[in-house]
Amino acid sequence: MGRILASFIMPHPPLAVPEVGRGQEARISETISMMKRAAGEIRGLKPDTVIVISPHAPMCREKDCVHIYEHETLRGNLSNFGAWGIDIGYVNDYEFVASLILEAESAGFRAGGTKRLRGRGRVAGELQKSGRLQESGAPQTSGGPHADGAPQTNGGPQADGIPQTNGGLQADGASQTNGGLHAGCSTQYASATLASDTADRHAVMVPEKGSGKLDHGTIVPLYYVDNAPGNADFKLVVVSIAFMGSKRIYEFGKCIKRAVQGYSAGGAGGFVVIASCDLSHKLKADGPYGFDPEGPRFDKYFIECIKTGDVDRLVNIDEDLLEAAAQCGYYGTVMMLGAMDGLGLAPEVYSYEGTFGVGYPVAKIAVD
Ligand SMILES: [Zn+2]
Repeated sequence: MGRILASFIMPHPPLAVPEVGRGQEARISETISMMKRAAGEIRGLKPDTVIVISPHAPMCREKDCVHIYEHETLRGNLSNFGAWGIDIGYVNDYEFVASLILEAESAGFRAGGTKRLRGRGRVAGELQKSGRLQESGAPQTSGGPHADGAPQTNGGPQADGIPQTNGGLQADGASQTNGGLHAGCSTQYASATLASDTADRHAVMVPEKGSGKLDHGTIVPLYYVDNAPGNADFKLVVVSIAFMGSKRIYEFGKCIKRAVQGYSAGGAGGFVVIASCDLSHKLKADGPYGFDPEGPRFDKYFIECIKTGDVDRLVNIDEDLLEAAAQCGYYGTVMMLGAMDGLGLAPEVYSYEGTFGVGYPVAKIAVD
């Protein structure tokens, strides 16, 4: 049986990586300092698996559908941001991914990698095409965390008609070299202790060949974890967000919780969940999307909810406020909290900065 050791909220401005920021990162020095603190704590927890929930991973437009990479490995770089030396890779914890997919399906969701979702027929045409992040070669050094410059308006529960600006699906089975993966990671897929029919289905699930391509929402927090001292022999799981409303995405988080509890593959089954989370992009007139008073209002609300561990208040946020804030990390945070459903939460907000007009929160949600 696995367990969640702690969860973290970490932002994902590419310029937080010095190779991208080239000095600008000094303007968010508190964020950088607390990212390092969180990363060091993650390493200190010695997790077997780290789950990153990223709003910039491939997404499915279909309601109740969550993309989760099913590849053998996960790999990515920040070359789109002008940093050619940043290249990170991990073994995907497919044992867990398979369990999570089955838990999600039994709760009425669709979940999994592109091939699986395409295999569901009508979902195929609705999967997002190649995202702007991959198309834009412009290095980003101006402060906005999004490569495409388009506002994220993922506040409402209805996906229909809402432009999705979160990185698109990668080419199927994009083959990448698997060198440089963290030592100590193996690709053994022990059978999980699930109900027999589920176990039968589980037994035939196999990872896709090659690597899933990591997005900057995943890479930036992991860059810090990679560079912190200590153990890093964990496997990775990358879960995207979805437009299904906060209550439903909290329910998906509970699928993560159940998959963690049912986990029986090697190691001690220690999990860390990272919600990759930028808050409002409308904090300043010279920010990426200008100023809207709802921007700072949303950020204040979010930080208060995290500080006090008031999950109900966060989940029941005014949809208009969510919409107006042009945020990207809310749903992933709610999913993360769903994964901790029923646990005693000991939250601590480490820092919050809005220097570039975008809210960058760093927080730890320990298990009480
Ligand atoms: Zn973002």
